[in-house]
Amino acid sequence: MKTVLVIDDDRVFRSTVCRILADKGWNVLEADGGDRGLEIALEHRPAVVVSDLLMPHGNGYKVIRSIRETGGAFGKTRIIVTTASPYGTDRDTALAAGADGYLVKPLIASELFHLLDNFSSGAETGKPAGAEDGDIRSATTLVKFWGVRGSVPTPGPGTVHFGGNTSCVEVRSDDQIIVLDAGTGIRPLGGALAAESNGKPIQLTLLLTHTHWDHIQGFPFFAPAYNPKNTVRVFAYEGARKGLEATLSSQMESPYFPISLHQMPGNIAIQELKAMSFNIGSVQIEAAFANHPGICVGYRLVTRHGSIVYMPDNELFQRLKEQGTPRSVENFPEAQSFAKHQDQKLIDFMKGADILILDSQYDEAEYLKRIGWGHSCLDDSVALAVSAGVKQLYLFHHDPDHDDARISKFEVRARELVSLLGGTTRVEAAREGASVELPMPMV
Ligand SMILES: [Zn+2]
Ligand SMILES: [Zn+2]
Repeated sequence: MKTVLVIDDDRVFRSTVCRILADKGWNVLEADGGDRGLEIALEHRPAVVVSDLLMPHGNGYKVIRSIRETGGAFGKTRIIVTTASPYGTDRDTALAAGADGYLVKPLIASELFHLLDNFSSGAETGKPAGAEDGDIRSATTLVKFWGVRGSVPTPGPGTVHFGGNTSCVEVRSDDQIIVLDAGTGIRPLGGALAAESNGKPIQLTLLLTHTHWDHIQGFPFFAPAYNPKNTVRVFAYEGARKGLEATLSSQMESPYFPISLHQMPGNIAIQELKAMSFNIGSVQIEAAFANHPGICVGYRLVTRHGSIVYMPDNELFQRLKEQGTPRSVENFPEAQSFAKHQDQKLIDFMKGADILILDSQYDEAEYLKRIGWGHSCLDDSVALAVSAGVKQLYLFHHDPDHDDARISKFEVRARELVSLLGGTTRVEAAREGASVELPMPMV
């Protein structure tokens, strides 16, 4: 039985919280002040501490800081603040000190249970928290494109067919909603989720490949993050210069945006990923580093219905080495074997995928002028997909200068290339609003 410690100087509130937690099967401890609470916490090492902020004999901030400073496993104890203070600054301070959740009194029991459910499904394993595996087993896995453009949004009459929003793809598998990147396509996705939920809490996981603008810029406009009933978990790898949370919050600082990241009312849990393989519910996730400026990854999602590889930003090593740098193949033959090895790792990562969503920003002529920018040309992307034996390739991260007619030509050219290479990969250009289901129909 797991233990929770409730710290609050309001006896009536404290005993109410203790009772509802005991009814849910928790072993409950209680304290009427922060100092006494810390003594009990050190002795019993509870899994979760639920603490008020404003108390005599040790306030809640002190409780949070003391636990976090302890280090070790106990330093990672989950801490939920329950407070009468609705002020954004108090919320910011508590979360910055290390609280995992912030609930404003009067306490809504379902919100507390919602947080506890999230903790229990992932906290103890070190894996990202998610809904319980296999709660709901869907017949198919859905992949839907909400933003397919690279670099910058491109609305206008020339892009109405393929769409002008930047990178965002929704994956639904069993009971999981997984969102790949938060380009401006996440704004209409948020509206659709809010309408679909009809007031019920939404839980979802946002997996970011990296924090370039075209992959995070839509997040401040993501409606589910503004509803305190909802839980939005944001996962990505640490950036080259700053931590994930600092990078995401800096795009919402006051010179750029009216609301800070921590003032968004939803339960937003930001977690830097360490392992390259983990689970979100029943979906197994594998990550691989992309060849792209800064820290950038692609994800492979292995579902019960098939696998999806999402690699929106990538440039092939071999091409870069051959044509892009002074350390070219003629001068350094070993550069070629290194580059081949790197590209082979990518092919292995994509091997046999049912769906590959891949950076195909340029054609060959454009690429030769933009070597080293971190993006691929169509010919390289098709060759990669065919080498990996991918069933369905979606050309992705369309260049802002490419209108619908140009992207349609990319599709035609890509299909020609597949047959020239003797492959069987089907190709389409990713289109905003389009969706596909796994398992793929037989052809
Ligand atoms: Zn990008
Ligand atoms: Zn990028």
